[in-house]
Amino acid sequence: MSSIKEQLFSEVAECDASSNNKVTVVGIGQVGMACAFSILTQNVSSDLALIDVAADKLQGELMDLQHGSAFIKNAKIQASTDFSVSAGSRLCIITAGARQRPGESRLDLVQRNTDIFKGIIPKLVEYSPNTILLVVSNPVDILTYVAWKLSGLPKNRVIGSGTNLDSSRFRFLMSQRLNIAPTSCHGWIIGEHGDSSVPVWSGVNVAGVRLRELNPDVGTDSDTEKWCELHSEVVNSAYEVIKLKGYTSWAIGLSCASLASSILRNTNNVHAVSTLVNGEHGIKEEVYLSLPCVLTANGVSHIVKQILTDSETVQLQKSAALMQQVQLGIKW
Ligand code: NAD
Repeated sequence: MSSIKEQLFSEVAECDASSNNKVTVVGIGQVGMACAFSILTQNVSSDLALIDVAADKLQGELMDLQHGSAFIKNAKIQASTDFSVSAGSRLCIITAGARQRPGESRLDLVQRNTDIFKGIIPKLVEYSPNTILLVVSNPVDILTYVAWKLSGLPKNRVIGSGTNLDSSRFRFLMSQRLNIAPTSCHGWIIGEHGDSSVPVWSGVNVAGVRLRELNPDVGTDSDTEKWCELHSEVVNSAYEVIKLKGYTSWAIGLSCASLASSILRNTNNVHAVSTLVNGEHGIKEEVYLSLPCVLTANGVSHIVKQILTDSETVQLQKSAALMQQVQLGIKW
């Protein structure tokens, strides 16, 4: 007797299993799984591969996600410790590596995570030579530079999640003060994702009304309303969340899903992401820092030339000098 499958279907054409929106997430800890979950539930990709060194955890996460397949759009989900599972990815998101312990800075993680990247980046490129790499592991600007060097890919295809998250934190805090939606609060945090990030106060606006036009001191120490506290809160927020729950996950997951969406859907949206700076704002060093970038199917297509004040430019240049100093200490 023929099988139920044979009785149920008459084949019309062989199914082509390849997709054009395959995403691989390397590192399935708190951040990797938040990225994977946001990408799946927002239908950013229907073809997801997960990679980690922890085989049991991979299998458990795979099964748990697959058991929810009936509630999403039947995405294909695979998981393996073997990088061949990533073959043909359009985007590889790297979240593998050590995270900060309470009190530890992002820069403390450099060498540990560089050594982990040596085993990851070349393999991703081997299986997906046309991929775009999106680095999330910290310190993200330094590790994006490391990934660029190890990959041999053009700079437009190696991106760090950068201050997309910091900008979102800033817009949330601004929205709390003004009682309007974060999507209607416009403000950019650029530079290093972390302690030396630069808030572009000169451009912060609602509906084109710049807060600096209403109060020239906004964002400075002379401002009696202390708007500058928003930026210190942004800088401290990861430390605070890590102190309270041990790690950060949901916001970075959503931030990465939004970057993945712009890339896979070729939207030309502008995001603050870490990119190789190339003389922008007078920066001479070869470093990755966040600037507003146009994201397309080919990665970063343009950097927006923001008009910064002298003090913002100086802060950005300080970030660049700090990044280069850290890079010089890396053992390749
Ligand atoms: P985690 O400890 O929960 O997960 C890390 C995962 O990486 C683990 O599953 C581990 O098995 C895996 N891993 C380690 N070595 C590996 C290797 N060689 N190959 C494959 N997988 C490997 O950590 P987390 O909380 O998910 O954080 C991950 C990284 O993301 C950290 O560096 C953290 O600082 C960073 N992070 C970045 C941002 C950002 O905005 N850029 C935000 C939050 C966290």
